[in-house]
Amino acid sequence: MRGTGAGMRTLTRRTALFVAGGAAGWGLARASGAALPDLAGTERLGGNAPEGWLNDASLLEPTPVASHEMLGEGGEALADAFRARLAGGPPVNVGAARHSMGGHAIPPRGQALTLANAAVEVAPDRRTMRVHAGARWGEVIAALDPLGLSPKVMQSNNDFGVAATFCVNAHGWPVPHGPMGATVRSVRMVLPSGEWVRASREENPGLFAMSMGGYGLTGLITDLEVEVAENRRLVPAFTDLPGAGMAQAFRAAIADPQVEMAYGRLDVARERFFEDGVFIAYRPDADQSDLPAASGSGMLSRAARGIFRAQLGNEAWKGVRWDVETRLAPRIGGGPVTRNSLINEPVVTLDDRDPDRTDILHEYFVPPDAFPDFLQACRETIPASYQELLNVTLRWVDTDGESWLAYAAGPRIAAVMLFSQEMTARGEADMARMTRALIDRVLDLGGSYYLPYRPHATQEQFLRAYPRAPDFAARKRQLDPEGRLTSTFWDNYLVDL
Ligand SMILES: Cc1cc2nc3c(=O)[nH]c(=O)nc-3n(C[C@H](O)[C@H](O)[C@H](O)COP(=O)(O)OP(=O)(O)OC[C@H]3O[C@@H](n4cnc5c(N)ncnc54)[C@H](O)[C@@H]3O)c2cc1C
Repeated sequence: MRGTGAGMRTLTRRTALFVAGGAAGWGLARASGAALPDLAGTERLGGNAPEGWLNDASLLEPTPVASHEMLGEGGEALADAFRARLAGGPPVNVGAARHSMGGHAIPPRGQALTLANAAVEVAPDRRTMRVHAGARWGEVIAALDPLGLSPKVMQSNNDFGVAATFCVNAHGWPVPHGPMGATVRSVRMVLPSGEWVRASREENPGLFAMSMGGYGLTGLITDLEVEVAENRRLVPAFTDLPGAGMAQAFRAAIADPQVEMAYGRLDVARERFFEDGVFIAYRPDADQSDLPAASGSGMLSRAARGIFRAQLGNEAWKGVRWDVETRLAPRIGGGPVTRNSLINEPVVTLDDRDPDRTDILHEYFVPPDAFPDFLQACRETIPASYQELLNVTLRWVDTDGESWLAYAAGPRIAAVMLFSQEMTARGEADMARMTRALIDRVLDLGGSYYLPYRPHATQEQFLRAYPRAPDFAARKRQLDPEGRLTSTFWDNYLVDL
């Protein structure tokens, strides 16, 4: 284990990667060039949605909708607005950032609603907050940070909506927690019948469990009561290790009550695919005085796009990026950083800005004992495809014994993969084939895949990974006999169950 620097530095590790990479990456990548297939003669897909259509972050899901409205009201007024949309017109769906990638927040030919209200109210005991369903995590951090508080569990980026996070039951790097739903005490939601109800572990517990990770198909959430944590100054410790050693590293971190956040990374260069890893664990600094305001890594991070994007179609640059990640970043970016600064990063930081390609995420949840077999499955599946894997981040997710569409039936190592995909019919076909092959391997290992990404899993794979889906669909029909709530995800996987 390597040591950490002293004294608060403004450079986070991601910043360090970006600074080093930004400086060198652009020029060298241009000079060495990327080996990518020619696009001549290909069928292009996706892109920006035309007027009257909606798309999601994949850019591959353009869908016609009847209407798209922004709703800024809160409380009773928002419940009334939801009731009015549920009472008439085409079916309804509420979304936030629409970063889910399979039309989960798109109602085909329906009424699409987006919430815009950042209301956050912290309880007097400082343990929970009442937050508007549409508040984004960046807005939540801005409200909590001056109070010395921080989200307990959220995704690694700050763009996403809080109700949306509950509806996908997302996870992040804070340990030893389960998914974000585990930190939600209650939600208020308008049912398809128009009734405005509270759901919690005590009140309407079935509705609560079903709505957690229920992709907005049970009701429209107006606000949530969510647990918060203390914001702290944390110090990272970096450990180089073989990829196969990750489960052991996570187990040790979970057993250490000092560790607040942890993640791992793997080398993605094709020749050494997933052989080497680095594990980063954050513990509280001895000095907790005068915490600086939450920053994110801002402009410097944006400069880091250079090296990240230089990896595209360029194996030499994947090697450079790994060296920066494992050698340079710990030296120049290993200082203390607050928990809020670590999680206050927008997605746009790494945006590809390439009209011919799109970033596609995959995520697999693997039983820790099966992790070495998972690595082997990835080695046999991913480099054999035409897809460009630019990053994999590993996290720990504790058991989710609550939600009906649970992805973590036991403790799991989550492998979050970021691919750059060509926006062509051949790129999509290759991605679908590779995704299905990988899902089969993960299911055989007792793991599962994450639902908010591209809808390439077969119905059979969906049912293997989510065996309670038929109960979910049946109960949704009871709650919503007229089909007032819908989405492309419902149409793809649930409507026929
Ligand atoms: C770059 C990137 C990084 C990511 N990182 C992580 C990560 O670290 N961990 C992780 O777990 N996931 C991660 N994800 C997945 C992400 O958490 C989900 O895609 C999440 O849904 C995104 O939030 P959103 O605001 O874009 O949701 P949307 O796509 O807008 O909505 C998601 C779902 O919530 C429903 N919904 C939203 N608001 C309401 C409401 N008020 N009432 C009822 N239903 C509602 C929608 O109908 C939809 O089904 C990542 C995704 C991307 C693109």
